[in-house]
Amino acid sequence: MSMGTGPKARFEAIREVTTRTPRKFDPPRDDQGRRLKVSEFFGVNTFDIMKMKEKLPKETYTKLLATINTGKKLDQDIANTVAHAIKEWALARGVTHYTHWFQPQTGTTAEKHDAFISFDDNGRTVEKFSGAALIQSEPDASSFPSGGMRTTFEARGYTAWDPSSPVFIMEHANGKTLCIPSVFISYHGDALDEKTGLLRSMEVLSSSACDLLSLIGEKNIKRIVPSLGVEQEYFLIDRAFATLRPDLLMSGRSLIGGQPPKGQQLEDHYFGSIPARVQAFMAEVEHELYKLGVPVKTRHNEVAPSQFETAPIFEEANIATDHNQVTMEVLRKVAVRHGFAMLLHEKPFAGINGSGKHNNWSMSVTASGPDFDGDNLLEPGKTPHENLRFLLCLLSVLKGVHKHAGLLRAGIASSGNDHRLGANEAPPAIISAFLGDMLSRILDEIEKGAVQNKSGEAAVIQLGVSQLPSVMKDNTDRNRTSPFAFTGNKFEFRAVGSSASTAFPVTLLNAAVADGFIEMTAKLQAKIKTAKSLDAAIMDALREAITETKAVRFEGNGYSEEWVKEAEKRGLLNLRKSPEALAQIVAPKSREMLTRLKVFSEAEVNSRYHVRTERYVKNLLIEVDTLRHMVDTQILPACYGYHAALAQGVVAAKAAGVGSPQGEVLGRITQLLMGLQSKRQALESAWHKTETLSSEEDKAVHLSKEVSTVMLDVRTACDELEAIVADDFWPLPKYREMLFLS
Ligand code: ADP
Ligand code: MG
Repeated sequence: MSMGTGPKARFEAIREVTTRTPRKFDPPRDDQGRRLKVSEFFGVNTFDIMKMKEKLPKETYTKLLATINTGKKLDQDIANTVAHAIKEWALARGVTHYTHWFQPQTGTTAEKHDAFISFDDNGRTVEKFSGAALIQSEPDASSFPSGGMRTTFEARGYTAWDPSSPVFIMEHANGKTLCIPSVFISYHGDALDEKTGLLRSMEVLSSSACDLLSLIGEKNIKRIVPSLGVEQEYFLIDRAFATLRPDLLMSGRSLIGGQPPKGQQLEDHYFGSIPARVQAFMAEVEHELYKLGVPVKTRHNEVAPSQFETAPIFEEANIATDHNQVTMEVLRKVAVRHGFAMLLHEKPFAGINGSGKHNNWSMSVTASGPDFDGDNLLEPGKTPHENLRFLLCLLSVLKGVHKHAGLLRAGIASSGNDHRLGANEAPPAIISAFLGDMLSRILDEIEKGAVQNKSGEAAVIQLGVSQLPSVMKDNTDRNRTSPFAFTGNKFEFRAVGSSASTAFPVTLLNAAVADGFIEMTAKLQAKIKTAKSLDAAIMDALREAITETKAVRFEGNGYSEEWVKEAEKRGLLNLRKSPEALAQIVAPKSREMLTRLKVFSEAEVNSRYHVRTERYVKNLLIEVDTLRHMVDTQILPACYGYHAALAQGVVAAKAAGVGSPQGEVLGRITQLLMGLQSKRQALESAWHKTETLSSEEDKAVHLSKEVSTVMLDVRTACDELEAIVADDFWPLPKYREMLFLS
């Protein structure tokens, strides 16, 4: 009896993995060999504000800064000067190429490199980089998803530098490239990318928040900017294993694989000591990110075995979005150097916690006076007035989330996140907001009218809101089951998937909250007309908003069955799978809001919907095809081999005149194999039916229901076989091997 190539490869992989030593990572040192402090090399690969100031003529610098602060496009007349300074800086650092780095609607980034090399008038080679090349470039737009916009408009598009995000140098094994963070738009101005909508949503959030604040007397505010801190979860497994798993390579998740006896029930991984190989990996990731100006702060083990997290210090939402893309790329690249496969999928291993990307979100103020500049609108203040402002902003957020819960759910919909949302380890698919005991009590009392006849200030004092900050600092009631939880001075949008770009969910959140501000402003304006004082008007407006948004507030266990029932009674949406969630993008309420606030045009709204539905269909078709191949070329042949070996044993035993105990196992395997074969047939039929459906919408629904169910059946059959077929025959690395050998 000879062993197949599968098991042999598996054993070799195990040997390789268990004998690997951590990659030695040399931190940067000075001439004396002293290890540099992070502050000594942070951002060396970014052309940030400090470098702009140092390398640009004063006048150019002032103009560029104004461009950055107002979010406008770069002026042609300073572009050449800026481009020259950037080129000199980049060449001195050994850069050969430049690229407009942008975020098409694929969830990842795109780049097309051009060398600096050019000829001068005498035919000599020189390095050139013009202002025009800095401002704009024209990649072929037709290879990127446009979601139907190409049929209505021209295919041509261009990328334009977003000066609010500094240019940076990406280092590769054999060179360095200057990356220019850009937006990607068609010649008609349609957003072909994820950043344009984000920037527009930031604008409208700012203007609508300023309108409300100016109504209560805050006149010196220039801008409100959403802040974003992104916690990134991921899995690390050895590459030797990943390469033996077609499912991990093709779809990022294991489509089959039985549960190990020990999962995460011992809770021994969370915040446990970080394995040496992983520690070396993290140190190198952080070093790379520091050079790129990404302020990574936190690293730890996560709940599941082999699951980890990294989180930066929060930044402006557009920069944080760019930095999260950079972080995902650096994690992936450095993982290869350390012999790891880094899995960003929301649910790489069934039965084991999936990964999310918690989006910590707040709003900060740019004001002309020092007393307000840098403040966070979601930070409860020290004076009654500040706290009225805080409550108005809080209720504006709740109004946005209540009114546009469906759209927010759509923003996090993906084939990967379908496996995570509602799986009793991640927030449910029902969007609700958690506020904590103290805030809930305050809102309830305002609503009940407990402070009805008090002036706003007196009411605030009576409610105890003036002590809010100190109480909330050690407010430990953190509800991990909520998709959108208030955590002291920010909301944590936890339902976002680990592999997602933060651009779209944050765009929708900004837009929804902007709409909340607009409604709150209108309400307050109406109250001011009739109320005795501004404070009384504010209390009235708050009271109404609290009643209106009550349904979306939930403090209990989001994982429970009762919540599902309760949410239904409250009329909240429970959109379990992507196709129904994505439909919310084009629902009349969403469409009206997004176009009214000029975050997206009609065509752009349709485009976001089509691109995501298409991607969902493609992802599922890849999974089905991969599963088919694995069953046909790996699982069935392995099982037949073991089946044959047992049958030979039975025959030999009979010939020898002894009993054949393996006969019983042979019988069970025969049964299981028949079962798997019939499920495999069912998968084929369900899959073929997809091809007969004409619209992507219908395909998506069919895949999310029928095909997904049969895929699970096939999986169950395979997993039962895995538990009984001899290890020697099994062709795939098992969960216990992939997750516990580090
Ligand atoms: P957790 O305890 O939730 O795991 P972490 O420390 O991992 O917390 O991450 C919290 C994230 O929230 C960090 O990225 C942090 O910078 C960010 N954060 C803190 N304050 C704010 C704020 N006001 N606005 C936005 N993000 C914030
Ligand atoms: Mg964390």
